[in-house]
Amino acid sequence: MQETMMSSQDLMNLEDKYGAHNYHPLPVVLTKGEGVYVWDVEGKKYYDFLSAYSAVNQGHCHPRIIKALNDQAAQLTLTSRAFYNDMLGPYEKYVTEYFNYDKVLPMNTGVEAVETALKVCRKWSYEVKGIPTNQAKIIFVTGNFHGRTMAIISGSVDPSSTTGFGPFLPGIEIIPYNDLEALKEALEDPNVAGFLVEPIQGEAGVFVPDEGYLKYAAEMCKAKNVLFIADEVQTGIARTGRLLATCGNCDCNNGCENRPEIKPDILILGKAMSGGVFPVSAVLANDEVMMAIKPGEHGSTFGGNPLACAVAMEALEVIKDEELAKNADTMGKIFRSRMEAMIEKTELVTLVRGKGLLNAIVINDSEDSSTAWDICMKLRDYGLLAKPTHGNIIRFAPPLVINAEQINECADIIEKTILEFEEQM
Ligand code: PLP
Repeated sequence: MQETMMSSQDLMNLEDKYGAHNYHPLPVVLTKGEGVYVWDVEGKKYYDFLSAYSAVNQGHCHPRIIKALNDQAAQLTLTSRAFYNDMLGPYEKYVTEYFNYDKVLPMNTGVEAVETALKVCRKWSYEVKGIPTNQAKIIFVTGNFHGRTMAIISGSVDPSSTTGFGPFLPGIEIIPYNDLEALKEALEDPNVAGFLVEPIQGEAGVFVPDEGYLKYAAEMCKAKNVLFIADEVQTGIARTGRLLATCGNCDCNNGCENRPEIKPDILILGKAMSGGVFPVSAVLANDEVMMAIKPGEHGSTFGGNPLACAVAMEALEVIKDEELAKNADTMGKIFRSRMEAMIEKTELVTLVRGKGLLNAIVINDSEDSSTAWDICMKLRDYGLLAKPTHGNIIRFAPPLVINAEQINECADIIEKTILEFEEQM
């Protein structure tokens, strides 16, 4: 009770004093969320243009997802996998049919799912592909972000992820992103088991690869019997205007079952699997790959718990029922055209890029300048929350339930903020 009376400053002071300093948050303290809006403890309302790093695609506190959470919480929350429960089987059937794979391995956070995918890939490479013991190699790309565990940062080239954390995991090769020649060369090694890639690099600053990169990369992997592993933790679940960023340009917008351009051998999902309500992640693959893992070889106490199953099924139903992939596609086009029009009016913004509602603007300043941060502070004052990714890049990723009136109002706020900012420089 006492804490609800605290001011934003008091609450930030508490975090500062008692929490590890492993984040650098924008100074705003939120207490409530609904749809595309969040409110701070002083009652100020904001548009959320981060969506908890694309976890809240269905909008904050979606009533259907919250109802599923509450109903299941009153019934059964956790059994561990020592026993069966009456939610996991139905969820596994639902999610594998939804994404068109034979099997799912349920986990909790995104990074756990990526770790799991690496383990599944290594196991498959020894048991099915026949790579000599302990020789398997997994290819990562520059600019990647797959999370923060030791294995995952072993494939990172970002000094803030790696400095001071060595020694790193062997069996990883890092090649340039969006470079098919480099991939071709790396695939010549017969001990390569998998190629791990984000279809669009979110954390790096919303880098969209060249048209055809993913398709050819997947084909090259197939030709060498190497698993194509797509990390769609951030791009998945309708964020980029398709259910998955690895889907092709089919018109279904609703499962993309018609004509997937690329079907990854291993698909990694997280974040919006639960609408941001609960940590739910998943690794999907066909039997040949997933059956390499045997009882006792991998697991998680909470992975696939009944609460997660109930929440994820409802969250995925909402994506279909509300046609959020289609909405992300339409709203994204409006947003990018408004941002591109702004380039004509200011020298501060040099580039707009993205797909669906995963977009970014590049600020005409060096990576280590504070300009993007200062703009985000001003956006906050005008009621819109966004955060720089890498120094001079601002990512804009609102919940996918945003409508045309709201996206135009937000584009007005961004334009006004940037033009004013430039004037005062
Ligand atoms: N993979 C990608 C592409 C991500 O963007 C992230 C988080 O931003 C992760 C993995 C890690 O997810 P989590 O923070 O849930 O562990």
